[in-house]
Amino acid sequence: MRPVLYWFRRDLRLADNRALSAAVETGSPVIPVYIVDSQDVGGASRWWLHNSLDALGREIKSRGGELVLREGSPERHLLELKEETGALAVYCQERYEPESRAQASRLAESIDLHAFDDNLAARPTALTTQSGTYFRVFTPFWKTATALGTPDLPLPVPAQLRFADCRPHSVPLDDLALHPNRPDWSGGLRASWSPGEAGAADLADRLESKLADYAQGRDRPDLDVTSRLSPHLHFGEISCRQVWHTVKQMELHARSTAGAEALLRQLYWREFSAYLLYHYPQLPTSPLRPEFEYFPWSDNAEHLQAWQTGRTGFPIVDAGMRQLWQTGWMHNRVRMIVASFLVKDLMIPWQRGAEWFLDTLVDADLANNSASWQWVAGCGTDAAPYFRIFNPSLQAEKFDPNGDYVRRWVPELAQKTATGYPDPIVDHRVARQRALEAYDSIKGIRTSRSVPQPGESSNRNDPPCAVATNAAK
Ligand SMILES: Cc1cc2nc3c(=O)[nH]c(=O)nc-3n(C[C@H](O)[C@H](O)[C@H](O)COP(=O)(O)OP(=O)(O)OC[C@H]3O[C@@H](n4cnc5c(N)ncnc54)[C@H](O)[C@@H]3O)c2cc1C
Repeated sequence: MRPVLYWFRRDLRLADNRALSAAVETGSPVIPVYIVDSQDVGGASRWWLHNSLDALGREIKSRGGELVLREGSPERHLLELKEETGALAVYCQERYEPESRAQASRLAESIDLHAFDDNLAARPTALTTQSGTYFRVFTPFWKTATALGTPDLPLPVPAQLRFADCRPHSVPLDDLALHPNRPDWSGGLRASWSPGEAGAADLADRLESKLADYAQGRDRPDLDVTSRLSPHLHFGEISCRQVWHTVKQMELHARSTAGAEALLRQLYWREFSAYLLYHYPQLPTSPLRPEFEYFPWSDNAEHLQAWQTGRTGFPIVDAGMRQLWQTGWMHNRVRMIVASFLVKDLMIPWQRGAEWFLDTLVDADLANNSASWQWVAGCGTDAAPYFRIFNPSLQAEKFDPNGDYVRRWVPELAQKTATGYPDPIVDHRVARQRALEAYDSIKGIRTSRSVPQPGESSNRNDPPCAVATNAAK
């Protein structure tokens, strides 16, 4: 019987995989494939991908198959594999990044492609406001998305899953150079994470003990109460449906529903970010509020390096940046603090911060990262106002009240005399004032188009057509 190709994308799992189940339902044997492409960038993400492919490959092997690994253009490899194996069709999950969408539409021209919307609870095209426009604000989006109903129950690994006997050429995993060597800097990542479907399931099981404290404690980086599922969700080692139903089950036995509700709401921030990227593909590079094209950023390389290496002299900022460097992850509250510090205290363009995060986060996700940076910078659709500037010391007092988080990641501050710890690179009060003045200078700028329309790129060359009264003062 002629096989079908199963193209793994951001769904590196066998359970609750709708596209894989559909491939199996054809009755054809399956050839599983992953193609490393130009979107698989970022050192920490590539480390994760190496380990996740390793875990998936072993799982497939234990079921009698072999995961075919390739590198380069997915279109070229899938067409080649189709020729080589006589495959009838390609099955895959749909992805929403602009490049992924372009890949799938090119591929659909020359191959029988079955792409399944399987990554999100709410398909981005399914949601519009009552007036038929796209959502720009989270809360109404969330209400509409959740009103669509309960996500479907998760599916098991398809019982009839059968792999094809043919063994097309596969690049050995080590030859893909996803894992760092010379030097191998991944020790901290290895100590912190277990990439793969089993690692995701373990963390999901552990949610039970965290939910009781989640609503109150999710902003506390010194506590371990958030799920840490973000890299597993990003790589699709667990589906949003699996997380949703796991949490709902746990809620039945919980004394309060607040933790479960708060966690499920966060899952919808992930949906909202994907929605924004789908409708505003310029999200990773251009501010959604066009006046920010004229913001007087200060691209200071020394300051950027101090921030990246956790040597700004602001303990909570440095703790976050060092946690990121060592483990590939940072607590959400601290992500907001370090991002605010970069964009407002240092006035470095948010895109520099987003690039650094994409390289160093194990959960680096084009949608979540871009939307979150625009949110902190104040230039996104439903953003924190630019003039709300975090004071890093007050944030630390509030969210790391005993200083445990800071001492853990900045150990020199745990000693009596903090030798070798840098002085603050800026004076927060002065920096705050400078940022507010810069913000005032763009506040009233009217660009020729107030807000980019969905699918349009905002044009850096558009001149402002009226200048702010404030700026003219
Ligand atoms: C500047 C900045 C950059 C960020 N970059 C990323 C990124 O590249 N990838 C990423 O997954 N998240 C990103 N986030 C969002 C958030 O910080 C992480 O999703 C969260 O810290 C992951 O930890 P957790 O799994 O324990 O979250 P939990 O609190 O347990 O939340 C459960 C899940 O909900 C989703 N989620 C939670 N908060 C958010 C949020 N604010 N936006 C979108 N989804 C959310 C995640 O998938 C997360 O795993 C960023 C936030 C900021 C402020």
